[in-house]
Amino acid sequence: MPTLSVENLKETLKLFNLDKCFGDISKYAERCIQSQKQENPGSTNMPIAITRCQFNAIARKLPKILKFIHAQGACSRMFITGCELCDGRLLDVVSEESDESEEELKEEITEISEEEKVEESQKTSLIR
Ligand SMILES: [Zn+2]
Repeated sequence: MPTLSVENLKETLKLFNLDKCFGDISKYAERCIQSQKQENPGSTNMPIAITRCQFNAIARKLPKILKFIHAQGACSRMFITGCELCDGRLLDVVSEESDESEEELKEEITEISEEEKVEESQKTSLIR
């Protein structure tokens, strides 16, 4: 398999109009390819690279997601490259978009896990 180049990935992101959805998605191209090379030198994969770029872009668009992933210590597992919070930097977007306090974030997370519980009990009742 030929090695994926940063330019190639950036062109593909544009081809799929992902730069229109995610704005600065191409800035993650290089780091996403680097992380693949570190995991498996000599093998880079376009679909995986695209997915990781999208994931990084979404996490920056919705800082709550990045904060949550970071709080779980899952940044590298979730393929977040160059996590601002791991580097001790502030998120660029946080100050503008996120006016929610940590408490509100926790409440939301609790709500989500309660919804999951309901789904679980529904599944269980179906099995019975
Ligand atoms: Zn982090």
